[in-house]
Amino acid sequence: MTTTRFAPSPTGHIHIGNLRTALMNYLIARKADGTFILRIDDTDPERSKEEYVDGIKRDLDWLGLHWDRVERQSERMDRYAAAADQLRDIGRFYEAFETPTELDLKRKKQLNMGKPPVYDRAALALSDAEKDALRADRGEGVWRFKLDQARIEWNDGILGDISIDAASVSDPVLIRGDGQVLYTLASVVDDTEMGVTHVVRGSDHVTNTATQIQIIQALGGAVPSFAHHSLLTGPQGEALSKRLGTLSLRDLREQGVEPMALLSLMARLGSSDPVDLRTEMSQLIDGFDLGRFGAAPTKFDAADLMPLTARHLAGLVLADVAAPIAAAGVPDDMAEQFWAVTRENITTLQDLAGWWAMMRDGADPVIDAEDTEFVAQAIALLPDAPFNDQSWGAWTAAVKEATGRKGRGLFMPLRKALTGQAHGPDMSALMPLLQVVKARNVTG
Ligand code: GLU
Repeated sequence: MTTTRFAPSPTGHIHIGNLRTALMNYLIARKADGTFILRIDDTDPERSKEEYVDGIKRDLDWLGLHWDRVERQSERMDRYAAAADQLRDIGRFYEAFETPTELDLKRKKQLNMGKPPVYDRAALALSDAEKDALRADRGEGVWRFKLDQARIEWNDGILGDISIDAASVSDPVLIRGDGQVLYTLASVVDDTEMGVTHVVRGSDHVTNTATQIQIIQALGGAVPSFAHHSLLTGPQGEALSKRLGTLSLRDLREQGVEPMALLSLMARLGSSDPVDLRTEMSQLIDGFDLGRFGAAPTKFDAADLMPLTARHLAGLVLADVAAPIAAAGVPDDMAEQFWAVTRENITTLQDLAGWWAMMRDGADPVIDAEDTEFVAQAIALLPDAPFNDQSWGAWTAAVKEATGRKGRGLFMPLRKALTGQAHGPDMSALMPLLQVVKARNVTG
């Protein structure tokens, strides 16, 4: 059975890059009628915060990326300890005592000699007595996994055939001196014990994958299928890493981005499939094919989310938006007409309140100098509110009659006088909602 997981560390809010990972894993699981696990990678007690766990769940809920179960690494410490024992027993785990400064010095020397900065395994040569002395002097050492220095190969679901020489990679530290289990060990134990069959993550994890494959094999687990998606860049190809903080899902939600707009973009961006607005998750699931994603960095422009959001909203019926319309203050008996008038004239639902305020209180009129007299004349011909769907037609006919103006020269100054804008809804439909005409006060 297909099982995938999304494994964020709760050390901050998740952002658009994390969403890509979450969504791909979600879609793979759902397409195969499999299981999607939300795994909280909280082995770092100092940096992991409960508020971020809540935030991650809220973000996924908002998007409709529902998980089948939650696992928390902090509750599985005994499993990691057992795996560590197993690695010790088979001679693939060793204690090392170098300080960060010493390691740094070693790396610099290697680089100076033109060698790759790979840990030299000096600790393997330590006798028990030497280890005891170092432990007494420096405290507990770190535990490194002893890589088998062969080539590590896998067929990546996105990158194709990968081959990495294990000799070019340092033996990974899996347990820190203070006893903290590091992500690499926890992750392979979980992937193995939870029966994870497919792992999609960012291409910054490719080297991790190489070492993890060996650890999984050493522990006797089944190696999942791995796929590494390209990293997102900004619209000009610039690194996004520094700006990801401003591209949190929470921020996008607060800006009014609609879930289906975001999902429609992210489920296809970087693939050979076009980005099409979808209304249902099932459409995204059916059309998803990991094999269509490319290895090249993927350009992401947050501005693309707004037209998609607008299009998504334009396709909604009143029942979908009754709550935000009521929240904007629109009386129930006007809701239907209000939505008919605004649905194609908003970018996000947050624009509803502005439209209602304009209708309720009137808009500050925009009157071009050359139209002052014309507008004053027209306003004098405008009957009092309430208006109905005949009001605009009757009024503009009367104004045409009185002034001789027609076409754009007739309609545009009147639209701007009543709404303060050159563009907007059909005026016949808007009129019945208009409670106040501020232009009356201006033109006297
Ligand atoms: N917690 C890890 C991260 O956020 C998970 C990586 C993985 O998917 O294995 O980078």
